[in-house]
Amino acid sequence: MNFRVPAKSLKLRRMLPVFQKMSDTFNNIGIAALEENGKAISCKAGCGACCRQLVPVSEAEAFDLRDLVENKPEPRRTEIQGRFADGMEKLNNISFFERLEKASESGDAEYSGAIREYFVQQIACPFLEDESCSIHPSRPVACREYLVTSPAEHCSSATGENIDNVEYTFKVKDTLLSLARNRLKPELPYIPMIRTLEWTAANDDESPEREGKEWMGMFFSKLIEVSKMPKS
Ligand code: SF4
Repeated sequence: MNFRVPAKSLKLRRMLPVFQKMSDTFNNIGIAALEENGKAISCKAGCGACCRQLVPVSEAEAFDLRDLVENKPEPRRTEIQGRFADGMEKLNNISFFERLEKASESGDAEYSGAIREYFVQQIACPFLEDESCSIHPSRPVACREYLVTSPAEHCSSATGENIDNVEYTFKVKDTLLSLARNRLKPELPYIPMIRTLEWTAANDDESPEREGKEWMGMFFSKLIEVSKMPKS
C-alpha cells in the first residue's frame, strides 16, 4: 500500500480518508483471497439488512459524520437530522443507552443482548435510502468491515445465527476506536452512530493535532497491538 499523508499537524479526523482507503485495500485483498477459495461476498447495493444494527463509530468519525450532515443542502439536511431524532426518540423511550452502558460493564451475554435489542427495534440508519448507503464513500469503517459470505436473508435475523462474517486480521475499525476512544465512557469505547448528532452537539473535538506521519506511526503500532488481541 502507498499512502500520501499530510505533512502538517492536524486532528485525527482529517486522517480518516487514509484509514478508509486502508480499510478498503484490506477488503480488496481479503475478497480476492476468499474468491480464490470459492467463496463470495453476499453484500451488495440494495441489501440494507445490516444497516439496522448498532454501528460503533470513533470520536473522529462522529465529528466527520456531523460535518457531512451539516454540509448537506436543505431540505436533505433537515430530513436526515429528522431520521436521527426519530431513532433517538425510539431508543430513549426504551432507555436503550442506559441499558447498553450497564450491559457493557456486565459481561458478554448482557452486551450481546443489548446489541440484539437495538436490532429488534429495526431503526434504519439515517443514511440508508432505498436499502442502499447514501454516504457510501464516507461510510464509517465499521460498515466497511462488515461483510458476510452467508446468504443475505440470514442478515435479517436478530439472533445473528448462520451469519458468516468475514474475519479480519488487521482491524482498522478497532484500531481507530482505540486511537480515538469515547473519552466520556471508557467502558463503552465507541459512540453508537445514531447518537452522533447528540454527542457532537454536546462535545468538542479535543483530538490533539499531530503531523500525518506521527498519526501513521501511532496507527500502525495500534494496528499490530489490536491484531494480537484474542478474537471477541
Ligand atoms: S452508514 Fe451506510 S453502510 Fe453504514 S449503516 Fe448507514 S447506510 Fe449502512
